[in-house]
Amino acid sequence: MDLTLLYRGPLASCDYDCPYCPFAKRRDSREQLRADHAALERFATWVTEQREDRISVLFTPWGEGLVRSWYRDTLTALSHLPHVERVAIQTNLSCRTEWTSAADPDTLALWCTYHPGQTPYDRFLAKCHELSGRSVRYSVGIVGLPEHLDAARRLRAELPGHVYLWVNAAEGRTYTDAEAAEWAALDPLFPYSRHPHRSAGLPCRTGESVLSVDGEGTVRRCHFVPEPLGNLYDGSFRAGLRPRACPRAACDCHIGYVHLESLPLYDVFAGGVLERVPALPVRELAVLGVGAAKK
Ligand code: SF4
Ligand code: SF4
Repeated sequence: MDLTLLYRGPLASCDYDCPYCPFAKRRDSREQLRADHAALERFATWVTEQREDRISVLFTPWGEGLVRSWYRDTLTALSHLPHVERVAIQTNLSCRTEWTSAADPDTLALWCTYHPGQTPYDRFLAKCHELSGRSVRYSVGIVGLPEHLDAARRLRAELPGHVYLWVNAAEGRTYTDAEAAEWAALDPLFPYSRHPHRSAGLPCRTGESVLSVDGEGTVRRCHFVPEPLGNLYDGSFRAGLRPRACPRAACDCHIGYVHLESLPLYDVFAGGVLERVPALPVRELAVLGVGAAKK
């Protein structure tokens, strides 16, 4: 069975303090960190044992995972398993990059976000070049706030040409056409992020081949629909896997709507859906962004 798992354990601390952070960040106590470590180990052991499945994993922690050794070690270990096709994580890239050399570069991937104001631009860019030097697959993104536009332009000019720079529409922000065009000049796929996607009743791969898993193994179809489908560790989730329509009115987060069957994003990101790396060269994406299905 092909399974894509979006894992989010109890970790909720971050070494950054972005004013626009959408997550319920907190300071994790030692006990909470121990619990997160244990939950991650349990998840990684389960993935390791599922040799009959072909598994892809995206870690989507509330906070920053890569400053914790257990995330780096788990990504490295899972990357070497023959039945794991992809193992990726969302990160602010504040960590050192040496650890990636121990991972399988064909399987490991990073979804990196630049947060201006939290780290010097040159330091972030240098980390990106380190990843390129280590042959790591990665995308780089930024939140589309006006005060980020200069940094985004510099990134687009100074990142390697093959590295995709994505722009997320800022939560709750309405963009004029002129503003949207400025962002689309940097990320041709920005039109997909500009407005929430109307999703009610539309087929979405979550709940069939894509699942969200929390630290206790509770399986849900995605991070945005709270109804549990079963538990990972007792296998009860498997009986519930089937094609499903979205029960929500709209889906406004890339890690959700990328799985909507009504959008062409599995083709756009073929081979890189989880880490947001498009299949086509960046310069050829423009034609796909224009007329993106927005309702
Ligand atoms: S890096 Fe991410 S989790 Fe950390 S404060 Fe910024 S937005 Fe929040
Ligand atoms: S469209 Fe979004 S909210 Fe709806 S089921 Fe899919 S991922 Fe979840």
